[in-house]
This record gives sequence, structure tokens and C-alpha cells, in this order.
Amino acid sequence: MALRPITKPMSGPILIAYALLWATLMRALLVKARILPPTCARCGLRFERGALGERVCTCHAHDH
Ligand SMILES: [Zn+2]
Repeated sequence: MALRPITKPMSGPILIAYALLWATLMRALLVKARILPPTCARCGLRFERGALGERVCTCHAHDH
């Protein structure tokens, strides 16, 4: 005796589309939250080097 939950045949594709939509929204939010704080308002580059070879802000580093 097997009791299986009744699932609608249309719920599969709709769930996938819903998950994709949420993933896109969450990714946009994460990228936004990560990029906004550390960037220079003048040149748009980060103040601290996150990865090797990455260009950083030099607006305030001329008297070195
Ligand atoms: Zn700058």
C-alpha cells in the first residue's frame, strides 16, 4: 500500500522558473551589497586590493 502525495504536473517547470528568478534576485543583491561600500566615488575602483593584479584607487596615493 503506497500513499503518494498528489503533485501537479505543471509545478515542476514553474518551481524551476521561480528558483531561477530568486537566484537572480539574490545574486544581484549580493553583488550590489559587496560592490557598493568599498568603491571610490571618483574612479569607481576599490580602495583595497582584493585579488592580485586588480586595479585599485590611486586618487589619494600621489604623495607616496
Ligand atoms: Zn579613486
